[in-house]
Amino acid sequence: MKILEERIKKDGIVLPGDVLKVNSFLNHQIDPQLMMTLGQEFARLFKDDQVTRVLTAEASGIAPGIMAAYCLKVPMVFARKKKPSTVTDDVYTAEVYSYTKHVTNTISVEAKFLHKGDRVLVIDDFLANGEAAKGLISLAEQAGAEVVGVGVVVEKAFQGGHDWLLDHGYRLEALASVKSLKDGKVEF
Ligand code: 5GP
Repeated sequence: MKILEERIKKDGIVLPGDVLKVNSFLNHQIDPQLMMTLGQEFARLFKDDQVTRVLTAEASGIAPGIMAAYCLKVPMVFARKKKPSTVTDDVYTAEVYSYTKHVTNTISVEAKFLHKGDRVLVIDDFLANGEAAKGLISLAEQAGAEVVGVGVVVEKAFQGGHDWLLDHGYRLEALASVKSLKDGKVEF
């Protein structure tokens, strides 16, 4: 998406370790108008897929996820990174190694929010090595749901997640596809 690429060019900062910092509109301060535009685009891309739920991960997947779910008129559920003490029911869990935080989190969703027969659209902010996407897919599949695709705001296509998803037969839609972050420059 042109508008997203332009915003990344304008406000994105390349950090060491091939990390793109976009915390002025996506990861800390959030631009709601831009999020709605991204949500509309996800909804357009998956309009024929009979999506019944959007699944994302806290915290940074929630903004694009809720807008996609709003436009598709379905509920959004976000996987939690810490199990709250209020959760006593059955949960699905998956281990996810965080690319940016260098820790492994056990993400979880209460079983009552993902069902067999659900057609799940997985949404996340970034796709790097694909750990978060794999974890979210695993949660949906543990429930017996079908993953209709994975939508990410930004993919770093030079890292492993892109190929892993396509090699395993998952549909991937990235609204911005970054080819390189070499020398501090973002190349699409
Ligand atoms: P993956 O699990 O695909 O290796 O990494 C994706 C997750 O790590 C995303 O949920 C995102 O929060 C974080 N992440 C990975 N790379 C970047 C990056 O370059 N910039 C930002 N802001 N987050 C990233």
